[in-house]
Amino acid sequence: MAPEDAALAPPTLARPALLAAAQAVDTWDVIIIGGGATGLGAAVDAASRGYRTLLLEAHDFAKGTSSRSTKLIHGGVRYLGQGRIALVREALVERARLLRNAPAQVAPLRFVVPVYSRWEQLKLRIGLTAYEWLAGRYRLGRVRGLSVAQTRAALPNARPDGLLGGVEYFDGQFDDAALAVALAQTVFDHGGIALNYAPVTGLIVRDGRITGVRGHDEITGQALAFSARVVINATGVWADDIRRMAAPDAPPMLAPSQGVHVVVDAAWLPGDAALLVPETDDGRVLFMIPWQGKVLLGTTDTPRDDSPFEPQPLAAEIEFILRTASRYLRQAPEPGDIRSVFAGLRPLIAADPDAPRSELSREHVIRVSPQGLVTIAGGKWTTYRQMAEEVVDCAASEAGLPGRACRTAHLPLHADPAPAAGERLHPQLEVTEAAVRQAVRAQFALTVEDVLARRSRALFLDAEAACAVAPEVARILADELGRDADWLGAQISDFTALARGYLMRSAG
Ligand SMILES: Cc1cc2nc3c(=O)[nH]c(=O)nc-3n(C[C@H](O)[C@H](O)[C@H](O)COP(=O)(O)OP(=O)(O)OC[C@H]3O[C@@H](n4cnc5c(N)ncnc54)[C@H](O)[C@@H]3O)c2cc1C
Repeated sequence: MAPEDAALAPPTLARPALLAAAQAVDTWDVIIIGGGATGLGAAVDAASRGYRTLLLEAHDFAKGTSSRSTKLIHGGVRYLGQGRIALVREALVERARLLRNAPAQVAPLRFVVPVYSRWEQLKLRIGLTAYEWLAGRYRLGRVRGLSVAQTRAALPNARPDGLLGGVEYFDGQFDDAALAVALAQTVFDHGGIALNYAPVTGLIVRDGRITGVRGHDEITGQALAFSARVVINATGVWADDIRRMAAPDAPPMLAPSQGVHVVVDAAWLPGDAALLVPETDDGRVLFMIPWQGKVLLGTTDTPRDDSPFEPQPLAAEIEFILRTASRYLRQAPEPGDIRSVFAGLRPLIAADPDAPRSELSREHVIRVSPQGLVTIAGGKWTTYRQMAEEVVDCAASEAGLPGRACRTAHLPLHADPAPAAGERLHPQLEVTEAAVRQAVRAQFALTVEDVLARRSRALFLDAEAACAVAPEVARILADELGRDADWLGAQISDFTALARGYLMRSAG
């Protein structure tokens, strides 16, 4: 084995060993900036083709948009209504692949749409049958009409007056942050390296071509520099920042759109069926989805001109979600019932500056700058694999790497064993000491936020309970990472400050 290949052998997950392994490689074939769905997917694709692959993420994996989605692996019923047939078909094929390649992370979910008008019922039956037809042999179940009694059995809290029945169909559901971690682990399984807390702060340019990146290790402050044959920019709504490192006057490519979800107790949507609101006041769909013992209600589509890492929900967005839910529920949640509220920014591609953001394309684009920076943006979680295949094809040809076929269509993703059973650290949360230790040892967690926001979803499920358990999680982390009391105290106060943004009373 050549010394460089030895560096690519699966390292232990201890941070110093990971950094040392990354620095032992003279020139990477591919460096990917950004550890969300898009970047991690590209890293799995490149590493599994045998390219020397390094991914650098500024914060934690999926800290950006990729932990803030509706958690659906779907074709997008509403895109069908907009006539985006190819987009829907592509996503339905990817849905089937994800169910096969990541069965530990993705599962089918039953949806029921309660109907209150015969015209709506007819439209839904036709639309959802077309959706199922587009899935072809990849369909997950049959679309069927439900009687009033069947609809009530599936959705006991659906508004009963005027209820004419329902329409049932199936889609996919997942834990977005867990899938991101599984992708990062899969990068290592195929000889690549993915580093969280490693922001890129500059591009190295030689003779007009990008030959690497500069950044630092956020944990120690150590400066980092890596060379690469090609650099892929997969930084979502922050992609324009990286593009401007290469060309300060590059016109914006992205038009972020904020989506908010609120989380309430399971009692508001008893049973295992999700509810789809087929048309909101602003002409979109709204989901009410059982998720990890709670119910997720969302989402909104609000244009934003900035891209904060912790976008804050607006009071009007929360009010819109609760008002829309109340039209479909016998008893509807009120602001005081909200356990957590979170916002994410869709990396939509800016086309016509005057077009409403809900009409902007959900498709992805790949652009190569004159210096060779390959940027990919847009798309959805569901289609990350297809996006990765296209961007790695493009990057390999840009860099003149030896052509190698994509392998991910049939590539199983990493699956961890379940952590040993143990007592919950908080009665409302499924967080155990064993799970926290596993998060550090096998899943790259370095902070209390990593554990409570993304290795478990405590912060997204019940922000108050997450705050209550933070000191105990900090203690276990300090023990695992060999940190002192000052670090422990800072972790608790950082997490408590962050969690304020997920508590209902903070919405502006
Ligand atoms: C409200 C909402 C609901 C959604 N629901 C769904 C759904 O149900 N199903 C679905 O398929 N899709 C859904 N999507 C879309 C999907 O979540 C996104 O398309 C996807 O997560 C985007 O991933 P990304 O990797 O491109 O961006 P991100 O996840 O934002 O990743 C970009 C990463 O780049 C990092 N970064 C930025 N700057 C730097 C730097 N200088 N150095 C290193 N790293 C850097 C960031 O920290 C971030 O982690 C939803 C989106 C939103 C907003």
